[in-house]
Amino acid sequence: MVPDPSVPAGARPVTIAPLRCGNCAGSFQEGDAACPWCGAGIALEDRGRSHVCARCAVRAPVGATWCPGCGDRLGEQPLAPRGDGGRCPACAGDLRERTVGRHVLTECGGCGGLWLAAPVFEELCSAAERAGIASGVAAARSAPVVSERVVYRPCPACHELMTRRNHGGSSGVVVDVCRGHGIWLDHRELEQVLAWVRAGGPERERQRRVERARRAEPAEARPPSLPLEPPSAEPSFDILEALSWLLKRAG
Ligand SMILES: [Zn+2]
Ligand SMILES: [Zn+2]
Ligand SMILES: [Zn+2]
Ligand SMILES: [Zn+2]
Repeated sequence: MVPDPSVPAGARPVTIAPLRCGNCAGSFQEGDAACPWCGAGIALEDRGRSHVCARCAVRAPVGATWCPGCGDRLGEQPLAPRGDGGRCPACAGDLRERTVGRHVLTECGGCGGLWLAAPVFEELCSAAERAGIASGVAAARSAPVVSERVVYRPCPACHELMTRRNHGGSSGVVVDVCRGHGIWLDHRELEQVLAWVRAGGPERERQRRVERARRAEPAEARPPSLPLEPPSAEPSFDILEALSWLLKRAG
């Protein structure tokens, strides 16, 4: 093991306290949806998680004042129950509302998954893209798609099974989408999407699409690099004929 220079010699390594159920104090594992001892649902706070950073969406530990991802101040994030009794599509925990900056995000009070309306999700992504361009973040490679068990989840609003989508085509983050209602992101998925966006993922994807379309086109359908010339460039060529040829070519 490489010694950590920031830790004084002889200091004892930090031991992470085991996770304890808020109902019976029995210990549980990170991935458990319910307490293995008493069966109660496990609260997000019992997992040691609390605020969501408004900038990078990293979920901060309970009691943190600053985001561990980007260093921004976390501020107050009032919580409110959702009136509709919606359940988490991942763990069936209670959904609640968390005010993060000027957005009200719906989150699961158990696993910390997030349920966002499409315009809110797009706004967070655009802000991350602008921030990435402004700071000139080096282009990072796409995250590999984690081979997880494929589960189709019900939309919390209409209960229809949602569509799974590799966000942006190549982010490697598979999100669940209901076209009419919103986007479900498991714990850490919003953070991963925004990191991919800040690193220039969408721009690389746009370039890749243009390149793919260019290669798929047959050579004669490509826009000519020379000035357009009608096929019969005879002195007597008809303007209508040329126009119809151009229209056909454009279509
Ligand atoms: Zn318990
Ligand atoms: Zn942050
Ligand atoms: Zn949940
Ligand atoms: Zn729906």
